[in-house]
Amino acid sequence: MRSSGRIRDEDLDQTLREIRIAMLEADVHFSVVRDFLSDVRTRIQGSELITTVAPGQQVAAAVHASLIEILGKDSPSLVQEKSGVTKILVVGTKGSGKTTLCGRLALYFQEKQLKPFLVGTDFERVAASEQLMTISDSIGAPCYIEKNESKAGEVVASGLEQAKVQGADIVIFDSTGIVEFSDEIADSMADLADEIDPTELLLVVDSMMGQEAVNLAKSMHEALEGTGIVVTKLDSDAKGGSVLSVRSVTDLPIKLTTTGEDLKALEEFHPERFASRLLGMGDIASLVEKAKTAAPDIDEKKVARKMKDGTIDLEDFLEHIEQIKNMGSLGGLLDMIPGANNLKSQIGSVEFDDKEFRRKEGIIRSMTPFERRNPEEINGSRRKRIAAGAGVAAADVNRLLNEFKQSKMLMQAMAGGGGKGGVNMLKKLGLG
Ligand code: GDP
Ligand code: MG
Repeated sequence: MRSSGRIRDEDLDQTLREIRIAMLEADVHFSVVRDFLSDVRTRIQGSELITTVAPGQQVAAAVHASLIEILGKDSPSLVQEKSGVTKILVVGTKGSGKTTLCGRLALYFQEKQLKPFLVGTDFERVAASEQLMTISDSIGAPCYIEKNESKAGEVVASGLEQAKVQGADIVIFDSTGIVEFSDEIADSMADLADEIDPTELLLVVDSMMGQEAVNLAKSMHEALEGTGIVVTKLDSDAKGGSVLSVRSVTDLPIKLTTTGEDLKALEEFHPERFASRLLGMGDIASLVEKAKTAAPDIDEKKVARKMKDGTIDLEDFLEHIEQIKNMGSLGGLLDMIPGANNLKSQIGSVEFDDKEFRRKEGIIRSMTPFERRNPEEINGSRRKRIAAGAGVAAADVNRLLNEFKQSKMLMQAMAGGGGKGGVNMLKKLGLG
């Protein structure tokens, strides 16, 4: 595949065989694999041969296009009622991430300046409803749960009433997790769905469950008429084949994905970006979007100037840490950067530990504003005081200061401001 020109049939067969094995190993449904490969083949054989493009690239382009096709070209976002309240019902297996998703959705709408309201309908397990309550408290969204055993209809009616009192725009209903799907469960869930008459009925697919979750989503869709899929736990080591299968198997669009335990780890689904990410091209577009929402008014010119003339200080450093924290987990972020998988394994997980960031933040927060602006003034006694305040060793403070000094030089050199130390360092890193 390295040479240029037309793809030889035996090379294509061999490549498609490898893709087939990889997909089956990733737990993609066999019929989806079959359709996918035939789509790739048609694209390659049907395309007017551009001999200047290397065969490998032609295959990659075809695979990319076919991936988008099976993920669903369109990526509709959540539907909202034009007038009146929008109702969202979340269903799925136990432990798939429903309750967390309800909190995430509430946060998502809060960020759009809307008023969400949460309703727990898990009247069988009080603990489950309490979890929803805790989440709603943590984000400051009102919530209604019914602790006494009662009929679905009553809970729904009371919930909607409370939501109205609170002036909510969006009412999000959590539901009892399914352990084993049966006709009886299908009936009771259908009753609940009838009572709610949701605008969006979201089927949660736990990517760690693989094919099983896809089959269940299919059954749920048949019983309840879902409107969209949410794939959870994409940050896990799950092989993720379910993401590829679920659209074809259920014929429902994937609307959202979740990528971590943090409530902010919710993303709108974009087939094209996801396909690129799968192919290791990274996902710059998502990353940029995240950076934008995390730091909507970041003054890039100011930052660039400060980088160049070396006046960046620990206040800026702290601000950066805050921004990174706002973007959700670091592991998830890294997956969006092309080639970052490599980077991740090279650097090791320690450096991308969120805890490490919190520690750095703690150290900087223990400094006075003067010290943050003039880190070079931090002497032995100041260092001791800062360490005690942050609950770390003096050596940790030193390490942070050194790191800061180094990145400052590096930034200065990269921004073209010269600075001998930075240039030397770039050389050392093979970048200069
Ligand atoms: P439910 O039983 O469907 O309501 O599931 P929960 O919302 O209680 O979630 C079950 C567990 O999965 C919790 O520990 C969540 O923190 C965790 N969880 C949910 N979504 C994600 C995700 O996207 N990534 C990871 N790593 N964990 C998740
Ligand atoms: Mg739950």
